[in-house]
Parts: sequence; C-alpha cells; structure tokens
Amino acid sequence: MKSSIEELTLSLTGNKLGRRINIMEVCGTHTMAISRYGLRQLIPETINLISGPGCPVCVTPAVDIDLILEITKQYEVSLFTFGDMLRVPGTESSLYLKKAEGRDINICYSPLDALDYARENPDRKVIFLAIGFETTIPLTAVIVKRAYLEKINNFYIFNTHKLIPEALELLANDKEIKINAFLCPGHVSAIIGSEPYRFLADRYKIPCVISGFEPEDILQSLVMILEQIKKETPEIEIQYKRVVREEGNPSAVKLIYEIFDKSDSTWRGLGSIPGSGLKLKEKFSGFDARIRFPVKKIKSAEPAGCECGNVLKGIKKPFECRLFSKTCRPESPVGPCMVSSEGSCAAYYKYERELKNIKI
Ligand code: SF4
Repeated sequence: MKSSIEELTLSLTGNKLGRRINIMEVCGTHTMAISRYGLRQLIPETINLISGPGCPVCVTPAVDIDLILEITKQYEVSLFTFGDMLRVPGTESSLYLKKAEGRDINICYSPLDALDYARENPDRKVIFLAIGFETTIPLTAVIVKRAYLEKINNFYIFNTHKLIPEALELLANDKEIKINAFLCPGHVSAIIGSEPYRFLADRYKIPCVISGFEPEDILQSLVMILEQIKKETPEIEIQYKRVVREEGNPSAVKLIYEIFDKSDSTWRGLGSIPGSGLKLKEKFSGFDARIRFPVKKIKSAEPAGCECGNVLKGIKKPFECRLFSKTCRPESPVGPCMVSSEGSCAAYYKYERELKNIKI
C-alpha cells in the first residue's frame, strides 16, 4: 500500500500538479488515527494531510458555551451533556468550572440518561446540551420524540447540532486553502450515505473517499483518492463498505427530519453556514431550551491567541499556533481543539509533538 501511494504521488506531483496534494479529513476519529499510527510520517511529504472541522466539540462556538452557562446561571435547571463539552472554554468560564462551583451540571453517556432523569424528577427542569454531527443527531431525535409521546414537559434540548456536507461546500469554495480531495467521515456517512457528497465531485471536481478508521483503511482510501486524481475522474467512493451503504440509513435520516428542519448554524472558525444546522420543527418547539430559557444577548469572544479557527479550516497546523504546548496543553487547554479527545491540537500534542522532522 505504501509503495502504491509513493508511486502514485510521484507520478502526480512530478507530472501534473507539481505541488503538494492537500487531502482534508473531516472526522476527529480520522485525525486521531492519522496521528496515532504515524501515517503522516509514512507517506510522501508531497501529500499534505490536513484536518478539517471534524470534531463536534471543536466547532461549537464560544457563544453557545456562553449562552448555556448563562442559562444555568439565571434558571434553576439540571444540565446534562457529554464529558468533552465540560472543559471547552467559553469567553470567561466553562461548564467544568461552574460545576465545581456547585451548579447542577452533569456528564451523561447517552442522551437517554437526561430524559430518564427528567422523567424521574418532574420537579426539575432538565436540559440536554445536544452536540454532534449526523452521527449523534438521530439519538437526539429519539429523545425528543419520546419526550413528546410521553408528554414529559420538564425536558428541553439546547441544540448545537451541525451538518457536514454544507461545511464541506464552504471549504470547497475557500480560496485560502486549495483542497484537492476529501477523506470523508465514516460515522457520519453510515447515516447519510454517499449521495449528499455528490456535489463535491460533480460541481467542484473534488475526489472524495469515505474511509474506515483502521490505518489500513486510511491508507487504502489515500490510494483510491490518488487514483481518482491521476485519472481525473472525481467521484464519491466508499472504502468503508463494511459499514457504509450508498443510501446510508434511511430510517435514521427520516427520523431526523421528522423532528428537525434545516437551519443556518454558526461554526467556530467557519462562521455562519447556510443550511448547516437544525432547528426543532414547530410541533416540537416546546422542547427548545433557547426559547424556554431566554437570556440577554451575550458578548462572546474566542480565546486570545488561539488559532482554532484557522486549524479547523486547515489553514494552520496545531504546531503553528504559538500557544501550542506552551500555555495550551491538554491539562490546561486554551481552545477546544486541545480539549476534545478528537481535536487536532490534542492529537498532535499526544502523538506528534515529540517526533523529529515533523512536517508542519
Ligand atoms: S494549540 Fe491551543 S490555543 Fe492553539 S489553536 Fe490549538 S487549542 Fe487553540
């Protein structure tokens, strides 16, 4: 596999492109696997593997953290969310720090935990801070539907869900970073299938391969990408066929759009992307924590000196942030890309920091 990549790269960079081939992965699990298995160091230098906005915690903007913090300050609520979200810094604090001060902020392992708590504690107002891409959205849809059917009226969601294909379109149009191919996410694609990426090949002529997460999967996907580039036949291929079907999981997609409509959404580093988010349909709007617990507009700011925005767009590598490994470390993160177990900065810190001759 390694020699196939080397031969293909040589034929491409030597003859056609004459420059680096930028391949962006848009899944935090891919980012971690690439760093953990040393794949960046294994392949020719002319292949530039760049991390995109594939970590849901990382793309949640500071304003959303600030808003949920404000809700927990102004209202008597019990908040549930996944562990990584607790340490993401807002403008002035984090859920973790406020939990330490005694606010009712809880880690859950499944959204169902939050619904169960609401059912068992009818006197409490319970909010689930819902994050994630298409992979986790069906779970949120399930709990909203259950809450509706069971008439649980003390349960709400603070929705920050985001959709991947719309973000890829923004990146495909970006003039600052020329993306030659996308390594598409395996988990998200298990839900949505391959068709939602079709526009990238048809309109933008960008090859895409939906990849699994083992090192062999990723290397094979790189071969598939390089072959597409060489033949000049951009298409959407599935390498991760043992999990992903072309049609995805139609039942899960149907459930998502039974509960939600598409809406615009703000991504850290990318700004507002039309149609890249979801809002509860009118019928379920009673579960919307943003409506039920209004707070005044908050002045939010990203952490000073943090380059997460540029890291998430693939413009900068984590090493290029001057705070990396100095003031920003996993035990004292400045930005979300160092907090999350799937963040680019955390991956580089854990697996690539010590390496010699690292390509940055
Ligand atoms: S190293 Fe820290 S401060 Fe720099 S971009 Fe990453 S998370 Fe932000």
